[in-house]
Amino acid sequence: AKEAGRARMTCYETAMDAHREERNALELDLRRAIETEELTLVYQPLVDASSCEMTGVEALVRWNRPGHGPISPEIFIPVAETTGLIEALGLFVLRKACEAAQQWPDLRVAVNVSPGQFRNPAFADYVRSVLNSTEIEAGRVTLEITEGYIIQNPERTRQSIERLKMLGVKVALDDFGSGFSSIGYLRQFGFDRIKIDRSLTMNVLEDSRAREMLRATVALARSLDIPVTAEGIEIEEQGRALQNFGCDELQGYFYGKPMPEAEITKRFSIQKAA
Ligand code: C2E
Ligand code: CA
Ligand code: CA
Ligand code: CA
Repeated sequence: AKEAGRARMTCYETAMDAHREERNALELDLRRAIETEELTLVYQPLVDASSCEMTGVEALVRWNRPGHGPISPEIFIPVAETTGLIEALGLFVLRKACEAAQQWPDLRVAVNVSPGQFRNPAFADYVRSVLNSTEIEAGRVTLEITEGYIIQNPERTRQSIERLKMLGVKVALDDFGSGFSSIGYLRQFGFDRIKIDRSLTMNVLEDSRAREMLRATVALARSLDIPVTAEGIEIEEQGRALQNFGCDELQGYFYGKPMPEAEITKRFSIQKAA
């Protein structure tokens, strides 16, 4: 029994080592990917709920890891966060997205911000420098923040948001409804928008409890004068239901998948001509 126990232990440790090595390799590759600008951005349309016109885009990072193929940001963003690479990555994404947005006058551009970036008091400074160098109007930029960090650090969150809003950029609460949410304190943080998570919107047609929760959430946000985006809309009826509840903006595969910059430029010019 003792022997078997030792064997299991060894086996477990081997698995741990393999895991650690894999992660180190991933970190190394990611570091290089950031330095050599191997990362790319795609953009997903944000559309007006009543006209379905594209009013903005959300920038989403992509990585085609050499020898491995595309890796989801759900995998490498957490690695970037635990290794400190997130700051360089985030700066790259913000700069690229603002540069791209120069081609699409009056479209909003939404950029995801990790807690690791947001926590850094210098973050507002680098947002300012990107705004200055790209000469993009601050009001067109929305920074999307998830609620996890907010709950842990309400006071610092409030200060960070204040600094950012002083620059004129907008701040949105991302993935609302995916965890513990208290819409009651949303207003005190000064969020300009909330984005309802796909885990809620995906059930709007089938699940009456999800439906009632959505209806109440959107109504409450609206009573606080906070506009609401519903994400993850895959079929027209979902979009229509959420518009009826009062969402002013929709996002999801039904309106457009994340796509290369050139595709957005094409859509934008077609829309302008119409
Ligand atoms: P997110 O910010 O909630 O982004 C929306 C995710 O939902 C994207 O996944 C998008 O492709 C996907 N999506 C959009 N519409 C639909 C739909 O109708 N159906 C389904 N099934 N999915 C839809 P993606 O691009 O894989 O990104 C995953 C997450 O990774 C993002 O979630 C965000 O939290 C993070 N992320 C992506 N890019 C960045 C970045 O540049 N910086 C940071 N910090 N995080 C990022
Ligand atoms: Ca987002
Ligand atoms: Ca989201
Ligand atoms: Ca998400």
